[in-house]
Amino acid sequence: MIEAIKEHAIIHGREVKLIKKNDKRRVQAKCVKGCPFQVYGSKINTEEWTFGIKTLSLEHQCGRVDKLRYTTSNWLCDRYANMLKRNSEFDLKSFQEDVLEDYKINVKKIQVYRAKGLARDLNEGTFKKQYARLWDYAEQLKNANRGSTMKIKTHIVKVETVFQRIYVCLAACKKGFLEGCRPVIGVDGCHLKGPYPGEILTVVGVDGNNGYFPVAYAVVDIESKDS
Ligand SMILES: [Zn+2]
Repeated sequence: MIEAIKEHAIIHGREVKLIKKNDKRRVQAKCVKGCPFQVYGSKINTEEWTFGIKTLSLEHQCGRVDKLRYTTSNWLCDRYANMLKRNSEFDLKSFQEDVLEDYKINVKKIQVYRAKGLARDLNEGTFKKQYARLWDYAEQLKNANRGSTMKIKTHIVKVETVFQRIYVCLAACKKGFLEGCRPVIGVDGCHLKGPYPGEILTVVGVDGNNGYFPVAYAVVDIESKDS
């Protein structure tokens, strides 16, 4: 409920004060300028984080403000982490301008700087977790495509297992190549972006229509004789 009140305040550009009652089960929010705006709610039961709203008046008579203390770096990270995942080079000035355009709120440079750091930790963390599930992924692929080949190579850095490369040849692709393609193959590579760059290599054959036919693929740290 507190988060919802803060979000409402940010969207409407009004400063509200939160009054948490001593028993922590009741929350009240009022406009700092003394408008009729008021929200009063209490927890429905002690176990769940569900609040019942007892009083609700969303009317503000005050004007919008362009700065709010609720637009913290955590809040910015929450809202913009996905965008930053796609665009890690996004500069601080553009980030501030985007927040102003989206929410009509000015945020400090230090806030967007911190939000970028938080988003990087968050996004790289999820990437890291995905690497840890590679073996599950390989097992799943083998189960769904009997006869497929999957090879994962790792090396140990200090005490951590670090991903080096993966090779995947799906049974259906192998069969298709052997049955319907000319006995020639080509290898092509493409650089990967993101926090863990590398290269994706694909092995392609040529099918009856002179089209490329994927046979296998690999994700490697660098393209070398070894990989
Ligand atoms: Zn107000």
